[in-house]
Amino acid sequence: MNQSIQPSKTAGTLSLFQFHPQLASRLPRVALGCFPTPVQPLVLADESIKAGRLYIKRDDLSGLHYGGNKVRKLEFLLADALRAGAKEVVTLGFAGSNHALATAIYANQLGLRCTSLLMPQVNAHYVRRNLLASHRHGARLMPCANLLTLSLRLLFKLARPGVRLIPAGGSCPLGVIGYVNAAFELKEQIIAGEIPEPDFIYVPMGSMGTSAGLILGLKAAGLKSQVIAVRVIEEKFANVAKMRRLLDATQALLRRSDPGFPQVKISASDLNIREDCLGEGYARFTEKAVRAAEIMRQATGIHMNGSYSAKAFSALLDDAKRQVLKDKTTLFWNTYNSRDQSAATVGVDYRQLPRGFHRYFEQEVQALDKDGLDR
Ligand SMILES: *Cc1c(COP(=O)(O)O)cnc(C)c1O
Repeated sequence: MNQSIQPSKTAGTLSLFQFHPQLASRLPRVALGCFPTPVQPLVLADESIKAGRLYIKRDDLSGLHYGGNKVRKLEFLLADALRAGAKEVVTLGFAGSNHALATAIYANQLGLRCTSLLMPQVNAHYVRRNLLASHRHGARLMPCANLLTLSLRLLFKLARPGVRLIPAGGSCPLGVIGYVNAAFELKEQIIAGEIPEPDFIYVPMGSMGTSAGLILGLKAAGLKSQVIAVRVIEEKFANVAKMRRLLDATQALLRRSDPGFPQVKISASDLNIREDCLGEGYARFTEKAVRAAEIMRQATGIHMNGSYSAKAFSALLDDAKRQVLKDKTTLFWNTYNSRDQSAATVGVDYRQLPRGFHRYFEQEVQALDKDGLDR
């Protein structure tokens, strides 16, 4: 497997729009990514991992220069900002936010200014890289010591004309539609015989947009795959009530835009949240996630992120060891960018960043990231 595999189209019609054409004329969307992303068999060397038929969905290749799961959301969210006549987007997250970097890159590409309000998190190599790369791509980065400071800055920003909010992780109904589309894309790949219909789909769950979109999209596409949403953040940021709100509001938006979009019922058994892979908290790597990342790297060369994809993959490996996946088709949905970002950070001095970010460069990274899991 290598990263030079090019998807078949960069600006084609989204799968969701092929099934529901009226949505294409009603929803704002700008083509930023390369879809469909490949789906490939995942071959692990370790004989003790009993995982039946195992596949990987390569959303790490969703963009030519920067992939990962935020590209699908930003196609809708940035188009919405352009449609509203915005000159600037403001977004928020934690210091190492992949979402903030993706927003910086694609806003810049579309001629929109980008400001990111960023809260403290535990240190890791990727935090440094994302901060430097965001800065290189022209984003204005503002450190916020806590949620209150962040909220005040946000209100101040949004009071100005021409500024559009992109919520944390891009997880609002319009952004979630990016992953409703992803489910329809998978359906097309199943029809084309690229993968049997999966029994299980493993995905990390942060701001919940990815898992909510997949759960809703799979149901609407008539697929029976179960999403295993692996919690990587604390309950106050990701919980069943929020998932329900996202599902309901996204479905309402889709049905307002196209009354032919199916009304689906999501039952409690459709919401499978895995609670045992978070470890000590958001962005705190776990030993089993670091081991999972090493297994993936050896099998495919793909680098995982200790805060997200490695934790989700560790859940899959746990279940494989418990023989739960033995006779099943399992899809690992790879949400972390794998396009090389090293060119975006050379020559950027961290002292160009606001002082509040210097500590990520002057202090040690967490012990489990000593070897630079995803540098
Ligand atoms: C943001 C992110 C996620 C989480 O997706 P949500 O839609 O916020 O739940 C998962 N993996 C990676 C690599 C991410 O950057």
